[in-house]
Amino acid sequence: MKLRLLKVDFVDEAVDKCLDYIKKHWKLETVEVELAEALGKIISQDIVSLVNVPDFNRSTVDGYGVIANDTYGATEGIPSILTLLETVEMGSRAHSNLRPGECAYVPTGGMIPQGCDAMVMIEYTEIIGEGEVAIYSPVSYRENITRIGEDVKEGEVVLKRGTCLGAKEIGVLAAIGCTMVEIYAPITISIFSTGDEIIEPGESCKTGQIRDINGYGISAMAKALGMKIQRHKIIKDNQDMLKSALEEARMDSNIVLLSGGSSQGTKDYSEKSIHSMGEPGVFTHGLAIKPGKPTILGAADGVWYVGLPGHPVSAMIVFDVVVGSVIRNIRNETPKPSLYAKMKTNIASAPGKETYVLAKLSEENGHWTAEPIHGKSGLITSLSQADGYIVVDKNCEGVRKDEIVKIRQFR
Ligand code: AMP
Ligand code: MG
Repeated sequence: MKLRLLKVDFVDEAVDKCLDYIKKHWKLETVEVELAEALGKIISQDIVSLVNVPDFNRSTVDGYGVIANDTYGATEGIPSILTLLETVEMGSRAHSNLRPGECAYVPTGGMIPQGCDAMVMIEYTEIIGEGEVAIYSPVSYRENITRIGEDVKEGEVVLKRGTCLGAKEIGVLAAIGCTMVEIYAPITISIFSTGDEIIEPGESCKTGQIRDINGYGISAMAKALGMKIQRHKIIKDNQDMLKSALEEARMDSNIVLLSGGSSQGTKDYSEKSIHSMGEPGVFTHGLAIKPGKPTILGAADGVWYVGLPGHPVSAMIVFDVVVGSVIRNIRNETPKPSLYAKMKTNIASAPGKETYVLAKLSEENGHWTAEPIHGKSGLITSLSQADGYIVVDKNCEGVRKDEIVKIRQFR
């Protein structure tokens, strides 16, 4: 094979290259799911409400529906005395049509009768005789009433394409009677952990061996992005075995991901194997990022190939920064708001490279502070202690104590 010299890409350049390819070659499938199954899914189209919510004027309190003018100047000493026309039942229509001097009892959430334009809370009223109610406090026009369509108007977009459905959004869909929802079908991924030393977590470790962290960690991150794991296997550092694993996986996967073997060592076969899959092959070998430089990105026949470094911290960070960004972009997902924190200590960075530093967050005097976790990139415990990572721009030469930094949280 010819020796190809690839320039190290900045992260956003690499993400753009991947996006270019994917936007041309992927057709994102969608599926309909029942609302009860939609938690955590990403909607693939804007959701427009076909109804008004509420679709009747509705009381927000237990009390008496009145004409606001009738209560003007009412006090405990000089109440307004109104005639009770009706007691509205929950879930039923109100029948009366209020004229001046009249009122109707309406429970919270009950329908407001015609003519009524305000609700007086029951605490400010008293039944004083057969069919008569004393009002001890004035209310203003429309007080304590939710009007038709005040919550959601018919024709209004309630959720945008790319929204991740959480409890709030599922509640909104229930409110507008949307029981089936169109979501993006899972993107399929095959994950291979490469390395002669890698064993299954259930096996006992002989000297020199190490349990497969990435296969499980990256699978979990992929699932959190809504992907379907087609297979997740360990492959020895053997080019033929690796190649046949990729050949099998590309048949049914949108993404084929390798971890380990992504540098230039004698037994590092990720690049060669990916490049042998077809055109355009590998388009990025090396990211201007720390940790995570030996990252490989490529594509062929509509399949996106990702070669992550073996170090678990690097692998997870690169997965989040590259794969996470690409997937969120193609599904038009609204980014989570960034979190900003004050640095507890100075941190050094590598100028010219985006630097990611795992950090632990704590709340101090009403603001977040970030403490870097200094661990070698192979230490998985540094990941478990981290709440996220600090992103240091490639043009920065480190960050000083007390500076405000941007934190990305792991999902
Ligand atoms: P490599 O990228 O293959 O040079 O691996 C870098 C380091 O990460 C080595 O110490 C590997 O043993 C370790 N490593 C590679 N793959 C995994 C994995 N799946 N789980 C845990 N550690 C790994
Ligand atoms: Mg290796």
